[in-house]
Amino acid sequence: MTSTNKVAVQKLLIKSRIETDTLKERELLCPECGFRIQTLYSDASGHLRVKCPKCKGIYVLNLAYFRRIQRREKHRVLDRYHK
Ligand SMILES: [Zn+2]
Repeated sequence: MTSTNKVAVQKLLIKSRIETDTLKERELLCPECGFRIQTLYSDASGHLRVKCPKCKGIYVLNLAYFRRIQRREKHRVLDRYHK
């Protein structure tokens, strides 16, 4: 990578970080063993292929089907499911 590219990447990293200030974080858990695979932001969508570092399973996930909000919002989310 050239130094010009490195500077451009650094700028994009900073920009990305700033953009997450207004987003909520949620955990993506392994569908098999429940291990926390990674943290997603609330604007994440689409399909993801993940490998669980714990059970070594490889899964294709549609993020719309695998939502888990942070623990402090759990009750609100459960209420929504039961309506
Ligand atoms: Zn797993």
